[in-house]
Amino acid sequence: MDLGLRGRKAIVCAASQGLGRASAMALGKEGVDLVINARGAAALEEAAEEIRRETGVRVTPVAGDITTSAGRDAVLAACPDPGILVNNAGGPPPGDFRNVSHEDWLAAVEANMLTPILLIRAVIDGMTARGFGRIVNITTSGVKSPATYPQLGVSIGVRAGLTGFAGVLARQVARHNVTINGLLPGRFETARLAQNLKFAAAEAGVDEAELAARLRAENPAGRFGRAEEFGQMCAFLCSAQAGYLNGQNIVLDGGAFSGLF
Ligand code: NAP
Repeated sequence: MDLGLRGRKAIVCAASQGLGRASAMALGKEGVDLVINARGAAALEEAAEEIRRETGVRVTPVAGDITTSAGRDAVLAACPDPGILVNNAGGPPPGDFRNVSHEDWLAAVEANMLTPILLIRAVIDGMTARGFGRIVNITTSGVKSPATYPQLGVSIGVRAGLTGFAGVLARQVARHNVTINGLLPGRFETARLAQNLKFAAAEAGVDEAELAARLRAENPAGRFGRAEEFGQMCAFLCSAQAGYLNGQNIVLDGGAFSGLF
């Protein structure tokens, strides 16, 4: 299926590895020119080179911390008028909220709620004026199913705030062919998952590999997700065909969420 995106421009944040990189790659395969971002310049350049090699699109790496105004300004200067914005950043560390300082709570709000909102604010009016826009916020399946991740209350709390805001704005821009959706990963094989598993195994006093095997087996699909699967779903949410898919939160977790809706 041709997703009707050839020649469009996208900003993909936090994209040197994992889910962001896979989203950038999937968009590149659809002919979308990319501005990709992450803090580490070397890994980002390596990701850009691989995407260029595999897709032939223009890829501009912009190294910087997307949770700072300098980082956001640099990304927006490289692509002031994107048709697509994929919001992503590292998540707050796992742990008991009692041990999280006021400053760390504010940092989590800044990183995983305000940063996407500020980026949306910077691009949304251009999208509505041009009559095309696709915004995907990468959050977590915990927003829909919080009990699954008892150690991730900070992450889930601030991302739920973003989800609420996005749900309001999505209804205000849809008539201009601009959509805003959340893409909610369950467990995907990435560095972030490895970090969370390490923490959970240490907390429970169990072997990390055994815990991973148990969680894989518990998933209806019998495995964790692959980053490419996430990227391809992200690209579809950005597609021309997905113009009527708006204000939703799509859980991508192999069926681990046990409700119907
Ligand atoms: P990952 O493999 O650790 O990759 C994170 C990417 O984000 C890297 O490219 C990293 O590069 C970049 N990054 C981190 N902080 C950044 C910042 N402040 N500014 C710019 N770039 C930044 O993580 P992932 O698994 O792809 O996760 C992506 C998001 O999905 C995270 O928010 C995570 O919490 C969430 N999530 C993941 C899972 C899962 O199972 N994988 C499940 C639920 C939710 P640098 O370090 O060089 O900046």
